[in-house]
Amino acid sequence: MNDLPLLSLIVPVKDEEEAIPPFLTRITGVLDALRTPEGAAVEWEILFVDDGSQDATLAAIMAGHTRDPRIAAISLSRNFGKEAALSAGLDHARGVTVVPIDVDMQDPPEVIGEMLDRWREGHEVVYGVRRNRMTDSFPKRLTADLYYRAHNWLSDDKIPEHAGDFRLLDRRVVEVIRAMPERNRFMKGLFAWGGFRQTAVYYDRAERAVGTTKFNYLKLWKLAVDGLTSASTVPLRVWSYIGGAIAVGALAYAFFLIARTILYGVDVAGYASMMVAVLFLGGIQLLSLGVLGEYIGRILVETKRRPIYVVRERIGIADKED
Ligand code: UDP
Ligand code: MG
Repeated sequence: MNDLPLLSLIVPVKDEEEAIPPFLTRITGVLDALRTPEGAAVEWEILFVDDGSQDATLAAIMAGHTRDPRIAAISLSRNFGKEAALSAGLDHARGVTVVPIDVDMQDPPEVIGEMLDRWREGHEVVYGVRRNRMTDSFPKRLTADLYYRAHNWLSDDKIPEHAGDFRLLDRRVVEVIRAMPERNRFMKGLFAWGGFRQTAVYYDRAERAVGTTKFNYLKLWKLAVDGLTSASTVPLRVWSYIGGAIAVGALAYAFFLIARTILYGVDVAGYASMMVAVLFLGGIQLLSLGVLGEYIGRILVETKRRPIYVVRERIGIADKED
């Protein structure tokens, strides 16, 4: 086996058979054009993580690997989700630097050269920031925006706004993330916790080249049903929503009772205030129980200590020794 590559791309793919050939054409062109400051070609590898694809994704990767052995893959035993797929990629990438990138070319590969420049200047994390999100739908932009705000308000580990998973990570950062034991692999949170010298590069997020987003609402719904039957923390968590609804209902009812009392007078003294208090407090109590349930549910998942992903097959990479 030759020297470690300077650059590993990790590409999580779920049902992306049509996206892979154009991705490989464009990305290999960009990677082969990269030069070190000494003018040498940059050694690279592309590591696909097949996240339980149901279509010919693996065959498309296989075809790429046959043409160019620097294209390798691991195939997971089922769909574990993008975060778990990225963890699998980080575990198997060999590069001195690692760049997770989407296969749909929404992350322009041309930015990688600039990321490497920043890295050579001494930055250990170079994250890509989307200059505009106009290619995302309005509800997606809105929910993403709200999410970043809520996260950064509640958490000490700030996530850079509009930064995706597309970023360059130094080997040291990769090892820190790999050493994190938790099952919940919310990558942006892990990156934020890790620290290190970080800097941003800016890019325009393109339209998805081919195929459709793998994060549609139907998928989220299916995910919820899967969650209910497998992990079954939902019976705990659902109380947040019920409690919230009751609290909102109680508030509305309070306004109704107040208005009625003002307009028509008191029928039974103290009735209105009592009802309001009982209903509102009942709602709040259920809400807080629900929040407890959220955390207990997560503790349950973590204590099971199951692997984050299961590898079914490796293409072009040796079994992991460590
Ligand atoms: N992806 C994955 N597992 C999943 C869902 C998505 O590996 O369960 C991959 C997908 O193939 C793509 C990347 O994650 O390479 C980003 O997905 P997508 O483009 O659908 O997300 P969006 O850009 O709409 O947020
Ligand atoms: Mg996309």
